[in-house]
Formats: sequence, structure tokens, C-alpha cells
Amino acid sequence: MTTEQTEQTEQTEQTEQTEQTGQTEQTEHWTIEIDSAVCVGSGLCAGSAARAFTLDTAGRATAPESPVPAGSDLLEAAENCPAAAITLRTAEEGKEIFAP
Ligand code: SF4
Repeated sequence: MTTEQTEQTEQTEQTEQTEQTGQTEQTEHWTIEIDSAVCVGSGLCAGSAARAFTLDTAGRATAPESPVPAGSDLLEAAENCPAAAITLRTAEEGKEIFAP
């Protein structure tokens, strides 16, 4: 293998590693905990992140798909909850992302 071929192979491997790292970041999942004792059923969370939050028949928020892929929409929902009812954690390690 020539020096040029070796450099091309190394570049290809680096690109593949970068792409794999990117995929790992995109597939991080967060668990959603909702304190139903304080939820006032405003529906703001479902408005911010409909993919993750819904209201049950009693008008309280639920997160039936939790854990879900991480995203700024989840953080926005937790930050804007008027009842401070939403906690977000990493699914794998349980590391706190947001707590009221
Ligand atoms: S934003 Fe907060 S108070 Fe409103 S429905 Fe969602 S969890 Fe309940």
C-alpha cells in the first residue's frame, strides 16, 4: 500500500468514527418523570413536545413512550411547566438533565 493509499484509508476510518459518534449522540434517550400530584393539566408540555407528552382522561400529563430520544423540545417542556412537575434523566445512567 502506498503512502497516499494509507492516508486515504486513515481519513475514511476517521470519517466513519465521526459518523458513528454523531449517531450515538442522536440516539441518547431520556426518561420523563411527571409528578401527577402537582400537574395542573395545562397541556403546555404536550404543546411543546407532542411526541412525548399527552394528557390522560383525568387531564394530567403522561409520557407513555418514556424513555424517548433526547431533544430540546423535552427541555423546553420541562422548563416551561407552570407546576414544576417534570424531571428529565438520561435513560442509561439516570443522570439528571432537568429537575424543578
Ligand atoms: S406542563 Fe406541567 S402542569 Fe402542564 S400538563 Fe404538562 S406536566 Fe402538567
